[in-house]
Amino acid sequence: MLTIKNYYNIARSTLFQYVPREHLAVAVALSLGLVIVLASEQHNNTEIASTPSKNIPGLEIQGLDTQATPIAVPEVETIIQTVAAKTDTNKPIQNQPESPKWKEFTVQNGDNLSILFKRAGLNDRAIYELFSDAKDAKDLRNIRAGQKMSFLVENGQLHGLNYVIDNLNSLSFERGIKGFTSKEVTLKPNVKYAFRQASIDSSLYMAGKRAGMPSNLTMELANIFGWDIDFALDIQKGDNFKVMYEEQFLDGKRIGTGKILAAEFTNSGKTFKAVRYTSKDGSSNYYTPDGRGMHKAFLRTPIEFARISSHFSLNRKHPVLHIIRAHKGTDYAAVRGTPIRATGNGKIAFAGRKGGYGNCIVIQHGQGIETLYGHMNGFAKGMKTGARVSQGDVIGYVGSTGLASGPHLHYEFHVNGQVRNPVTVPLPKSIGIEKSELARFNETTRPLIAKLDQYKSSNRLAVAKTDNSN
Ligand SMILES: [Zn+2]
Repeated sequence: MLTIKNYYNIARSTLFQYVPREHLAVAVALSLGLVIVLASEQHNNTEIASTPSKNIPGLEIQGLDTQATPIAVPEVETIIQTVAAKTDTNKPIQNQPESPKWKEFTVQNGDNLSILFKRAGLNDRAIYELFSDAKDAKDLRNIRAGQKMSFLVENGQLHGLNYVIDNLNSLSFERGIKGFTSKEVTLKPNVKYAFRQASIDSSLYMAGKRAGMPSNLTMELANIFGWDIDFALDIQKGDNFKVMYEEQFLDGKRIGTGKILAAEFTNSGKTFKAVRYTSKDGSSNYYTPDGRGMHKAFLRTPIEFARISSHFSLNRKHPVLHIIRAHKGTDYAAVRGTPIRATGNGKIAFAGRKGGYGNCIVIQHGQGIETLYGHMNGFAKGMKTGARVSQGDVIGYVGSTGLASGPHLHYEFHVNGQVRNPVTVPLPKSIGIEKSELARFNETTRPLIAKLDQYKSSNRLAVAKTDNSN
């Protein structure tokens, strides 16, 4: 059986198998999860070409003009915008905060709050004040490379702080008479449907690129069909796909892609269809049009591209305690800040500090299954006890809190209260749509599938018209 880790590796190698030399840097950057810069690429997308080099409106918060740079998602369109902004020397840089006292910093790899504050001319006292005054300050623990942070410093004292989490979310702090207060700003984008289709010539990656799909979307497409199609061995020339997904706009400008809503993949003449559905209890998943789950109920590993540094074992010498002690989970070594994903749908039963586990999340999945994630650097936004999560959702980031000798994820899999080896435990099959929810499922998903089909046939129509005119 294909484990998810193998699957990711295979999918990755297949995606980039036929990547020409000039794209290699892109492939490498992608596989490292870095933001890619496609400076030398030719694009005929007029929307991109006409995008002026300036900041995204709507991200101006409390007079602070923040530069909206793509962070976690390698978004082709916005990256080009960034390149344009950098190379445009005729215009003054427009993204500086209005007041010269505001200083903006980009979080670098290996940075922590202390380092950033020092860079802004502040000491740990400012951090202490912030954390003791404002509850939201704990979100600052989740800073990641590429994010922006601006400081308003006067006479060596912190007066304001703005933390841009992503294109849509930011958190700002202001010093008042009674200390710091915080304000969360979440912008709601307009969501439109986008369609793409392509026939595979060399690789899925290239086909996706030709169709104008951002690379992360191509990866998501491979994930959706990855349980049915082996992207390393099964892909053939002439295979094709169609995909309908959300595109997010802010003030008329495209700022990113949302989820794939419906997709179709034809492999060796066999067509697979998938549609996204959010159930009554709020968990989202991909299903066949007749309501069977596309995925296994669990991902084998909670981190992509990670190495197992310590296996499940009932007698192991503990690396910190140096005593023989059962290792009730699997350790995945990864760089601090690497996203950790929920391996299955469920409800967070615990999120907080838990002894040697440090920052820890426990998810209840039903069927007597619980998963545990330990030593986290911090939790992802909204991850608290009682919150619903879907398979693949980022719940937190790799760290070394608790009893850990270095940054890694400690992952446990419990069945009916017993610990099991996460690497070998038989994973239950995904549950299809329950009978009681089938009517709601059909009502929600049929229009999506119809839209995808419509797009398909209207395209064929266009082709047919061309043929008739000859
Ligand atoms: Zn461990």
